[in-house]
Amino acid sequence: MTNTEIIYSGLLASGISIPVIELEEVKSNCLVCGKPISKGTTYKKIVSSNFTDWDICKNKSGTHICKECSTVIKTKELRTNNFLATKDNLYLLKKNDLEEYLFNIDKYVSGDFVIGITRSFKKHNSYRCKVNNNTNVFIIREEDKEYVFDRANMKVLYDIIWDMYLYFTKDEIQTGQYQISKIQEYGLKRFKKHEEIIKRHRNTHQFDLLLYILNSEKRNKIVEERIKKHKEEKKKQKQAQKQ
Ligand SMILES: [Zn+2]
Repeated sequence: MTNTEIIYSGLLASGISIPVIELEEVKSNCLVCGKPISKGTTYKKIVSSNFTDWDICKNKSGTHICKECSTVIKTKELRTNNFLATKDNLYLLKKNDLEEYLFNIDKYVSGDFVIGITRSFKKHNSYRCKVNNNTNVFIIREEDKEYVFDRANMKVLYDIIWDMYLYFTKDEIQTGQYQISKIQEYGLKRFKKHEEIIKRHRNTHQFDLLLYILNSEKRNKIVEERIKKHKEEKKKQKQAQKQ
């Protein structure tokens, strides 16, 4: 199955309401995916003059778009959500869902799947996604970017980033410009070990994605708890000194 066939099939199975696409008879190849079609919709009904993805279209001189490509282009949910699709299901994912679905992808997919991530919540991913069949190493489409995600390696990196994030800001981890006082609090030895690994990945799409999916609400709760504990300990120490 092609990328849009998988997403279309997943959409139908998921129960998400899909737009009605009127098809007409045509003997051509789909402008977007290039497959031979006997029915399709004239492309002007599907893409606007703002359409900029001509470079990925497999049949640029085509006049019609197939049912599957038309439907996924017209389904708003596929632009305003991250998604993971198989022929049997389609998961619309929020930012805070990504950690679970990326690292435990075996729980959600079997066979061919596609994955699209959005940060603009308006750009098309669907027809630009690569079809994957390996849950250990797969290709993520993130709007204009596409990259390989090696799950085991990324998990190791993610755990390190998460550990750092409990002390540093995303910005510090992203740039490598850390506050010295925080490094001292984190522990110099631990910091050096982790920064050594992080620095090999800094400025890659994968690294940026991992930083992006860190759950700040979860983090803030843990940090608040730590600060509270720290304060209580100090208070106890002071009281002990007084006695
Ligand atoms: Zn098509």
